Amino acid sequence: MSESVVALFESLVGAEPPHDAPVLFDTACVMGGSIAGLLAARVLSDHAREVVIVEPDDISAQAHSRPGVPQDQQVHTLLPAGRRWIERWLPGVSQEARDRGASLAGPDKQFVGYDDARQAPDGVDHQFLAIGRPLLETLVRDRVTALPNVSVLRAQATGLRYGGGAVTGVRFAGAGTGGEGERAEGVLTADFVVDAMGRSSRLSNWLGQDGYDQPRLERLEAPVNYATALFERRAKFPELEVATVLQLFTPQYPSGGVSVAAATAVEGQQWLVMLMGYGDNRPGRTIDAFRAHCAALPPVFNDATSGVVTRDVVTYHQAESRRRHFAGAERLPARLVSVGDAVASFNPVYGQGMSSAALHASCLASYLGSGADLDEAATEFFRLQQVVVDAAWAVSAGGDAARLDAENGTEVPEEVRQQRLAMAQIVGAALVDPEVSKAFNNVSYMLRHPGTLFDPVILAKAAAATEGAAAQ
Ligand SMILES: Cc1cc2nc3c(=O)[nH]c(=O)nc-3n(C[C@H](O)[C@H](O)[C@H](O)COP(=O)(O)OP(=O)(O)OC[C@H]3O[C@@H](n4cnc5c(N)ncnc54)[C@H](O)[C@@H]3O)c2cc1C
Repeated sequence: MSESVVALFESLVGAEPPHDAPVLFDTACVMGGSIAGLLAARVLSDHAREVVIVEPDDISAQAHSRPGVPQDQQVHTLLPAGRRWIERWLPGVSQEARDRGASLAGPDKQFVGYDDARQAPDGVDHQFLAIGRPLLETLVRDRVTALPNVSVLRAQATGLRYGGGAVTGVRFAGAGTGGEGERAEGVLTADFVVDAMGRSSRLSNWLGQDGYDQPRLERLEAPVNYATALFERRAKFPELEVATVLQLFTPQYPSGGVSVAAATAVEGQQWLVMLMGYGDNRPGRTIDAFRAHCAALPPVFNDATSGVVTRDVVTYHQAESRRRHFAGAERLPARLVSVGDAVASFNPVYGQGMSSAALHASCLASYLGSGADLDEAATEFFRLQQVVVDAAWAVSAGGDAARLDAENGTEVPEEVRQQRLAMAQIVGAALVDPEVSKAFNNVSYMLRHPGTLFDPVILAKAAAATEGAAAQ
């Protein structure tokens, strides 16, 4: 792993808002007003006289689930990398989240377990935000739309307009509500456009139809089944705000098809509890089944699900991880980028999506601040973004590919076998060695590049811990 990629990743993680940002655009348009679109709009607000977010859902409503984000009733934890980014660019989100009852869970408030073993404390005060996804989006949106040059057009983007090899506008159709100020259809003139339309973005199709390259779509089978329910939080286990258990395959906690379970203490004095299974395993689809699974988990799960049900089980299925290789596309129009799940959406169990969106926003800030030629395709932006996507993909897809190969009995090349062995040793060593635990957490929390795990000191410690465990 080259030093420069590791350093570049860390500079994107630590990006600060600019002091004297050059104003480059009259109007910048962001298609999609969810987390990735809002964070991109925040960055663009420094570089455009006006930023218009085009979003079909009514996003003036406070903290409600909405159709455009069908995953928003599932557990959504904001990893330390994303939380810190949001705090620097949109200060006050964490404090307001806490004031409204969400949890800011540091190491003393977390239980992280693998099978029946608890991960070694790493001695670092990293904080997660445990919060309902609609509330988090509201806190971010309130701050972005309060910026004097940011507005929302309630409409659906339906295509792009071009001129001179660049995007010059966004075609839109009204959301069909007949609401005040709604326009049936039209073109919004823009001199920079961001696609933040999520996993089912149609941008690739539009580009193909309009004579440009369609970025290659890479898919990795990762069939995940989520079930999430909300329960009144009782006074028991006040010391815990986030509990996660992974890979439950031991006799002590019989899996019953649950591969990951998470409980987070969220606003409204509630536990948001999630069970996840792969493939045909669809755990906890009724409250009774949900509670039965949780009774076999570490005690906090039993307690979390013993309160009154405040929202019944909601399930969600996702078949695969996907990424679109914009950096490899040779013919793209200028003044167009894509961010968030529209570019890459992974197995959600790793909790990387919103933090990835924050790092894509950093890529945008870096690109716009670099003096890049805006009349050329945004290749430099996509190259930067590829560093972020590769890093997130390595964490989530690595585990899924290993699981698939094991299930299918696939022979893997020796180099891949060695890497997987090293990774397994690192995960095992993180249970007993604080230094390995710290390195592992830094990567899982997206604060450091996965290449840092292959540091000789970490690898040696991981191998020693494995030998020590085998000798016992
Ligand atoms: C089950 C599950 C659990 C997850 N858990 C976590 C977690 O714990 N932590 C984490 O960080 N991430 C998690 N994620 C990922 C997270 O949901 C996304 O990464 C995050 O929402 C950022 O996505 P986005 O803004 O790119 O897209 P989305 O949130 O999907 O939003 C897309 C937006 O585009 C709008 N849109 C769609 N079409 C158009 C159009 N034609 N014109 C204009 N607007 C349009 C939609 O209305 C919507 O507002 C999870 C995902 C899933 C599926």
